[in-house]
Amino acid sequence: MSYIFISDLHLDEQRPDITQAFVHFINNKAASAERFFILGDLFEVWLGDDHASDFNKLIKDTLASLTMPCYIMHGNRDFLISVDFCRETGFELLPDPTNTILFDKPCLLMHGDSLCTGDQQYMEVRRLLRNPDTQRDLLSQSLEERAAFANRARSTSRQHTRESAMDIMDVSPDEVTRVMQEHDVKLLIHGHTHRPCIHDVNSEEYKGTRIVLGDWDKKGWYLELDQTSYSLNSFDIGTPL
Ligand code: MN
Repeated sequence: MSYIFISDLHLDEQRPDITQAFVHFINNKAASAERFFILGDLFEVWLGDDHASDFNKLIKDTLASLTMPCYIMHGNRDFLISVDFCRETGFELLPDPTNTILFDKPCLLMHGDSLCTGDQQYMEVRRLLRNPDTQRDLLSQSLEERAAFANRARSTSRQHTRESAMDIMDVSPDEVTRVMQEHDVKLLIHGHTHRPCIHDVNSEEYKGTRIVLGDWDKKGWYLELDQTSYSLNSFDIGTPL
């Protein structure tokens, strides 16, 4: 038996190929896991649990078909996922970060955006959007207003990404060491950066492993973890598992 982790699918009505691969993945791969984790940005945008659409219903119904313990964490795109979503899908919302024991090993789960401390402009936006007052304010607006806000935020973010140096958009190595030390874990699993890889964390103060999940675009990615090993796997989106 194994635990399966995914993140950064950025599910969107405009990408039926990814939606189809996701449904297939849930039914054929995730369904056999002992536990299933989504570490943020399942959706390209989540306007709120009150946003009813055929697309959202398909995704929620697909998730609700899973019967093992399932967990979801906010990403920077779907931070408005809340209690109704969890009730409808049977998923438990995990705080970011979550310090937990997986197969007897202490492990830290994060979305990953909070590790990108080199990007000060983004960190400020993050603080604002994660503020409960801001979120309450957003949710009091109409769905049309929220959609307009999300579109503006995405185009600002795209422009910022184009104008920023590559290393600023990645995690800060010092912040990685700091959080792993603070939480006393040898394993960190996160997404967000769209740079799937398994890294040795090897500073003077700390040694451990950092697994970065991949985003779903031309390929889909997942991490499979069991008692003795882990593997970071990919498949072609057009040829689902
Ligand atoms: Mn993200």
